[in-house]
Amino acid sequence: MSVLVYTESENGKLKKSAYEVASYAKAVADQLGSSVTAISFNTENNDQLGTYGVSKVLNVTDDKLATFNALAYANSIAQAAKSENTQVIVVSSSTNSKFLAPILAAKLKAGYVPNVVAAPESTSPFSVKRTAFSNKGFAHTEITTDIKIVGVSNNAFGIMENQTTATVESYNADLSDADFAVKSIEIDKVAGQVTIADADIVVSGGRGLKGPENWGMIEELAEILGAATACSKPVSDMGWRPHGEHVGQTGKPVASNLYIAIGISGAIQHLAGVSASKTKVVINSDPEAPFFKAADYGIVGDAFEVVPQLIEKLKQFKAQNA
Ligand SMILES: Cc1cc2nc3c(=O)[nH]c(=O)nc-3n(C[C@H](O)[C@H](O)[C@H](O)COP(=O)(O)OP(=O)(O)OC[C@H]3O[C@@H](n4cnc5c(N)ncnc54)[C@H](O)[C@@H]3O)c2cc1C
Repeated sequence: MSVLVYTESENGKLKKSAYEVASYAKAVADQLGSSVTAISFNTENNDQLGTYGVSKVLNVTDDKLATFNALAYANSIAQAAKSENTQVIVVSSSTNSKFLAPILAAKLKAGYVPNVVAAPESTSPFSVKRTAFSNKGFAHTEITTDIKIVGVSNNAFGIMENQTTATVESYNADLSDADFAVKSIEIDKVAGQVTIADADIVVSGGRGLKGPENWGMIEELAEILGAATACSKPVSDMGWRPHGEHVGQTGKPVASNLYIAIGISGAIQHLAGVSASKTKVVINSDPEAPFFKAADYGIVGDAFEVVPQLIEKLKQFKAQNA
């Protein structure tokens, strides 16, 4: 009996989310009195998972799986789950994990709960707390199937060290042509930028910035903080920023540690996608802007005065602490 965790990687290196899902899997394993096995795909630094409580890693080395393929990845994980006699499978809340988890659930006749924010409340019955109503509430959800799949919300559980020695084994599942019915031929990725999904800090701009020509200060602030840039829906609808930056209910969800909203009113559809962020800072010239009610810190002021000052202060701070 083991807990199986799907640890994602990029360019052969584990992603930050891999350490969080591994930490979560260890917490589940401790509750069940079992151990954690990870499954990763063409990953070089699997041994690092031992630091977070993983005792065995199955590293899939099949060249055909060099790029993400939901069907083939799900089938590989399903086979590993069976051979490891797995009771609980843990995945992240990334787009890829949310793509493959329902396929995995169908293959294993497993119950799948995404957006889980804490270790299981109990393991018998198996009950987890997840976000509901676009992050406006929580649902306490029971999974009654033999195999359970838990999707952990980004930055909700955190990364916890739990020193174990991980043995790494090469693993290849039995895949057929049907598993490659849909495959990526080529992936064009923006290079050198922090992606919203992986970002610890997100700097986001809204219609209050008046036009695309004013985004230089948003990009500069993001660069100093090592942050990703994002925007509200109308900003991307008007073509001021690429659609990939649109966050909110109908855009990308943000669950960063710090979300800085500049010139964004805080409409319910925007908040729905960003309220899972741990600390929210709002800069808005209107003291009545609804976003202030959801903010941890607020600055009432003109973004064109506040942001350059913030940039200057951060530069000074960095220079003093270099
Ligand atoms: C079905 C549906 C889905 C939607 N999905 C999304 C979604 O996913 N994401 C999303 O963002 N929106 C979404 N929307 C749109 C949403 O309702 C709002 O219209 C939108 O979020 C407003 O964007 P904004 O805050 O940038 O613009 P505005 O509402 O125009 O707000 C601009 C803000 O900037 C402030 N401001 C103005 N000048 C300055 C200045 N100089 N300095 C500082 N502040 C200034 C203003 O006080 C104001 O609060 C959706 C709407 C619908 C109907």
